[in-house]
Amino acid sequence: MTEQRTVLSVRQAERRYVKGQAALAGADLDLHAGRIAALLGPSGSGKSTLLRAIAGLERLDGGEIRLGGALWSGPKTHLAPEARRVGMVFQDYALFPHLTALANVAFGLKGAGARDRAMAQLEAAELGHKAGAYPHELSGGEQQRVALARALAPEPAIILLDEPFSGLDRRLRHELRERTVDTLRRAGATALIVTHDADEAMAVADELALMEGGSVIQTGTPEEVWMRPVSAVAARLLGDVETVEAKAQAGRADTPFGAVDAPGLDDGTPVHVLVRPQAIGLTLDESGAFTVTRRRSAGTHLVFDISDSTQRHWHAHTPSPSPIGEGDSVSVTLDPAYVTVVEA
Ligand code: ADP
Repeated sequence: MTEQRTVLSVRQAERRYVKGQAALAGADLDLHAGRIAALLGPSGSGKSTLLRAIAGLERLDGGEIRLGGALWSGPKTHLAPEARRVGMVFQDYALFPHLTALANVAFGLKGAGARDRAMAQLEAAELGHKAGAYPHELSGGEQQRVALARALAPEPAIILLDEPFSGLDRRLRHELRERTVDTLRRAGATALIVTHDADEAMAVADELALMEGGSVIQTGTPEEVWMRPVSAVAARLLGDVETVEAKAQAGRADTPFGAVDAPGLDDGTPVHVLVRPQAIGLTLDESGAFTVTRRRSAGTHLVFDISDSTQRHWHAHTPSPSPIGEGDSVSVTLDPAYVTVVEA
């Protein structure tokens, strides 16, 4: 991978709204030039707090935030939001209702030519023909595009988007997501998008950061993070996964589907074997140890529920079509590409 230039770095960020309860508990994050990062985590994991701390809307109780060499937040330092070169797109877009689309985009611009630059930004968003419209005269998608144009217009160092697609229906969300990525790329923007939707995070991100309990628990490309989660919690944030508890023995760990490699771990080390449903291959086998309890189509693949003699249930995703049906006995093979062993 090519060397990435770090634009913004967050180190050991802490924030406690209520004494003893950390909304941020030592979060680390880097944003790289011209890249789109997605911050994914369950509700309450601290995503918005981290975003707001970067924007300067929240103070840190510990740690620091730097833009290049400049300290934005740190011990005894808190640069005001308006002095940070940050563009924000809020969940509800927060357009000024009494200003036209053009005036909204021009709002933060100074000096000669502000109106022209705002118009150019609106035209880039293919909304030039709506320049004179007020927010209530625009659709939800158009409002979001105006909000993005407004955030980009002053050419900020970074752009922060808080759940920018959550208010829209599924089809529109998909279209707007593509459009937003396209707009950010053409602007060469360094961006951070907060979302609680794993598919959305993977679709938009060059770099994914997983958040849990006020900390960033893993970063990497969506592919790396999906294929090689660092923990059961990280694996679950990105989709279906089965966790098998085992102990390392001679560089292997036992699962109901046979032993898998567990290299570099001392004998007896407790491990979690993380098995994606894509790892489980099924073969019709009358003496197989598993029974198919349910079969359904997910369009691109089939989803099987299988159980063993302990009545534990597992999910398997297999290519469609398949001759295997409900009630069949099957044997199972594991594709190691979709299996990760981590210390418990
Ligand atoms: P997320 O964006 O991942 O849903 P938040 O950053 O909004 O998470 O919240 C993290 C934690 O901080 C939650 O436990 C939340 O209840 C708490 N919290 C957020 N904002 C405030 C606030 N203004 N006052 C008190 N607690 C807050």
